[in-house]
Amino acid sequence: MKVFFNNFIKEAKIIFGEDFIPLHRPIFNGNEKKYLEECIDSNFVSSVGNRVNEFEKKVAKFVGSKYAVATVNGTNAIHIALKLSGVKPGDEVISQALTFVATCNAITYSGAKPIFVDVDIDTMGLSPLALKNFLRKNAEKRSNGTYNKKTGKKISACLPMHTFGFPCRIKKICDICKEWGISVVEDAAESLGSYVKKKHTGTFASISALSFNGNKIITTGGGGMLITSDKKLAERAKHITTTAKIPHDYEFVHDEIGYNYRMPNLNASLGCAQMENLKNYLDIKKILSNHWSLFFKKNNINFVKPIKGSSANYWLNTLVFKTKKQRERFLKYTNKRKVMTRPIWRLMSELRMFKNCQNDGLKNSLWLQERVVNIPSSVPNKFFNEQ
Ligand SMILES: *Cc1c(COP(=O)(O)O)cnc(C)c1O
Repeated sequence: MKVFFNNFIKEAKIIFGEDFIPLHRPIFNGNEKKYLEECIDSNFVSSVGNRVNEFEKKVAKFVGSKYAVATVNGTNAIHIALKLSGVKPGDEVISQALTFVATCNAITYSGAKPIFVDVDIDTMGLSPLALKNFLRKNAEKRSNGTYNKKTGKKISACLPMHTFGFPCRIKKICDICKEWGISVVEDAAESLGSYVKKKHTGTFASISALSFNGNKIITTGGGGMLITSDKKLAERAKHITTTAKIPHDYEFVHDEIGYNYRMPNLNASLGCAQMENLKNYLDIKKILSNHWSLFFKKNNINFVKPIKGSSANYWLNTLVFKTKKQRERFLKYTNKRKVMTRPIWRLMSELRMFKNCQNDGLKNSLWLQERVVNIPSSVPNKFFNEQ
């Protein structure tokens, strides 16, 4: 193992040519500064401005949805997507325990409580089989929705996540939820540029959320987006993310409790410039993942790939070690040598806030929790300059 650890450090330094190698850093070598300056000069730096509309159009076109509504971050986008999907205070939302905390925070903001269902080992995303089994055992279909027999609460939505940009079995999940009358919202925060049979992740559910946080594949500093092809949902999303103000030339009238979730024009300016390079970044990340894949094959280490019929953006390249001990040794060795590697998240079911949420045993989630590591995955400067 020691030889492999040492070779890994050498390989990372060759690829990235840096002293400290982060997990994922943003890259700004397009029109970012130009658009930001234009934005400042225009005075429209806040929640009104052309760049927000332009950014929405660009993202909608890229993912193949009819509409997009930009928000201040991805967590807010999930919150609103759940709300618009009919999630009400006191309801329950099925999700995965193996996710970033934002997924479950958003469920909580909507007044609902998460239920944790297991993931598939290969996708690290919600398992359709586990979902089916959970519902069969615990749920009851009534005239106005599906209810949890144990808690008596309504299960109003299912929120799968495409882990590290590897698409989950979203089609099957949607089919099961349709049978049970449960809405689906995709947490596509990590999967911009990931597809299932040429259809972009986030477009299987009627409304989904993206994130443009600083560590994501493209960034707006902070930011998120709702994507949908349903005109009514898009109008509702725009309305409640902009304080629910009734359009009027000069009067302030609001018709419900809204949110100040609109992405500022300043952030959208950054987003417009980033979108011009997204395709380029995805191409380079594919080259990088091929490179890593070959390296790990030679070293007999399991490097995660998307399942058949889907493609990944390789936002974060991922390893699965055979044992927890090996994984811990790798983390220690690499971080000490300034090559950043990170274990997968602590399961949500083990966090104080979500400890008392119902779960199905989470066999695969527990297995993965002990073995998964992310390795440096940024667009390397030298690859970019070669293009
Ligand atoms: C990044 C991320 C989000 C959204 O995060 P924000 O920082 O609020 O944009 C949501 N879910 C997952 C799985 C994420 O990785």
